[in-house]
Amino acid sequence: MPLVCMRQLLDEAAKGGYGVGAFNVNNMEQIQAIMEAGRETNSPVIVQASRGARSYAQDRYLYHLMIAATELYPEIPTVLHLDHGNSPETCRSAIEMGFTSVMMDGSLMPDGKTPSSFEYNVEATRQVVAMAHARGVTVEGEIGCLGGIEDGHGAGLSGLAHLTDPEQAAEFVKLTGVDALAIAIGTSHGAYKFKEKPTGATLKMDRLIEIHHRLPSTHLVMHGSSSVPKELQDVINAYGGKLKPTWGVPIEEIQLGIRNGVRKINVDTDNRLAITGAIRKVFVESPEKFDPRDYLKPAREAMKKVVVERMISFGQAGHAGDYEPVPLSVMAQRYAQ
Ligand SMILES: [Zn+2]
Repeated sequence: MPLVCMRQLLDEAAKGGYGVGAFNVNNMEQIQAIMEAGRETNSPVIVQASRGARSYAQDRYLYHLMIAATELYPEIPTVLHLDHGNSPETCRSAIEMGFTSVMMDGSLMPDGKTPSSFEYNVEATRQVVAMAHARGVTVEGEIGCLGGIEDGHGAGLSGLAHLTDPEQAAEFVKLTGVDALAIAIGTSHGAYKFKEKPTGATLKMDRLIEIHHRLPSTHLVMHGSSSVPKELQDVINAYGGKLKPTWGVPIEEIQLGIRNGVRKINVDTDNRLAITGAIRKVFVESPEKFDPRDYLKPAREAMKKVVVERMISFGQAGHAGDYEPVPLSVMAQRYAQ
């Protein structure tokens, strides 16, 4: 089957009461790890690429790797999503390349660093919704600012600096018509999210629940939602790494989110940690090896294991075959009505 739009995956997830992980990629091994995890758990799949990934891998490589994935895993509904588009122009180029879902992050100015005004965010997001929906492509917006910086994107603020205001979120969805909404509830991009296990003071799940009550039919997105498990940190540090102690978003908090309207959960750091730990282990234990396959295979396997675990805990496992994918042209007609 061709790449499918994200809206349908999230609508189905809402019906089934589960969440769908969105995993970032930069190369072939990461795509393979996700697709294998999708097959093993029979899960729908969201693969996402940031601007940084698009420039690292080049659009044509990414796109054709994803086409290969749809040919090799025809039983799995697979979305290619743009993570943190910084301008309508970036979203347009992704849509033209064949992405079936885009995020317009108008919470920041096009420099990807400066928090924007509500009016700017609404205007930029509306433009993208008009352009994307005409082609049946899904749009994720963001209101409030996430903490941290990822791939050069982010204001570098604390996760608590610009929490999403529920009333503004409701207004934003009404004015833009976005399919999914990323909200700021205290999470940050990168490995260093929390200095200790998060509590209600640092991870604002009550805010998320309030937003869900205002917007019961909007698909909420949790960014910066790696769990940063200690086991993955320990592997890296045991083999010469130097990670400082850090905490991520506990799985049970994500599951609470899923019970309250969260349909997409972004995970990148956990996979990066798994890959790096596996490669370090080979380098330390077998310093005589020099064939890249000797460390890329275990790295791919380590990432697959994390993705399988997430797919099971988010509840998407077992749901790949629940529905017939709707072609983008049909989605475009539905939006037009
Ligand atoms: Zn993000």
